[in-house]
Amino acid sequence: MKILVVDDSAAIRQLVTGCLTQLGHDVAYAENGAESLQYVADNDVDLILMDVEMPYLSGIEATKAIRELKKADWFPIIFLTVYDDDESFVNGILAGGDAYLPKPINPLRLQFTVIAMERIYVMRQKLQNTQQELQSANRELERLSLRDQLTGLGNRRHFDSHLTMQFALSRRNKAPLSLIICDVDHFKTYNDTYGHQQGDACLVEVAKTINEQLARTSDLICRYGGEEFIAILPETPLNEARALAEKIRQAVSDKDISSTYTETGRVSLSLGVATYVGQYKTAQLLIEAADAALYKAKQNGRNRVEID
Ligand code: GH3
Ligand code: MG
Ligand code: MG
Ligand code: MG
Repeated sequence: MKILVVDDSAAIRQLVTGCLTQLGHDVAYAENGAESLQYVADNDVDLILMDVEMPYLSGIEATKAIRELKKADWFPIIFLTVYDDDESFVNGILAGGDAYLPKPINPLRLQFTVIAMERIYVMRQKLQNTQQELQSANRELERLSLRDQLTGLGNRRHFDSHLTMQFALSRRNKAPLSLIICDVDHFKTYNDTYGHQQGDACLVEVAKTINEQLARTSDLICRYGGEEFIAILPETPLNEARALAEKIRQAVSDKDISSTYTETGRVSLSLGVATYVGQYKTAQLLIEAADAALYKAKQNGRNRVEID
């Protein structure tokens, strides 16, 4: 450990250093409380041995200031003092000390108190590392729990929570909120013709293509169902959303993913667009409006965009 020895007496500093170097520790010095505070502000320290009676800043005051400075960043502080009465002991612990050793120094007691404190310090560091690992694992889990495994887009869960939030924002800010539902045409036949694996590859390609058309960071595209994707577009009026839907339709068509049975000979999308401008009570009604527009697109011959 890196140990800071704080004492105004050179003789004591020397004695204590002898005890600590025997245990293999690194020792640094301060000659009074003010110096120790400065040292802790500028350097990493694992443990402090603190005299109580010193000029400039007493050990008690210095300990209070160090605890205040380091906040949650705890390390052991051991007091070394000639004041062996109960009140001094209590004051030392209350100031933030962890152990209290009387002078004259008993080298054996000093060494084994340091060993005991080191055990607690190491345990605490392990706990902190575990906590950090847990936190980052939780963040990763949170991220994964919002992703669709096949396409890497947002999943249904992500869609639900994001739409709830955006719907509330839109209502409060009186800003338009648009949805585009995209459904792959005749996808059941695609699967039946080319097999499920190629069907999956097709979905990945379609998802990527749709995603590439969304320019704003506030836009979110999610996999809504098997071969259905849905885009949430905050602050986007109907005409803009319709233009974007047309762009998506064109981009997927341009990929020229062949499918022998469709009218065009390639994979196509039907798209339904709806925009909330205060007319719906719930987000569910906005989804239903976009769904109704999609149904119209299917009815009118597929490979097209319809609006609510
Ligand atoms: P429509 O043009 O009316 O949309 O016809 P469709 O065949 O696309 O519609 P339908 O909803 O009847 O079929 C969707 C098909 O999508 C059913 C299922 O085989 C396929 N599908 C759903 N999820 C997946 C998936 O994860 N992978 C693959 N390969 N296929 C899927
Ligand atoms: Mg002293
Ligand atoms: Mg469908
Ligand atoms: Mg379909």
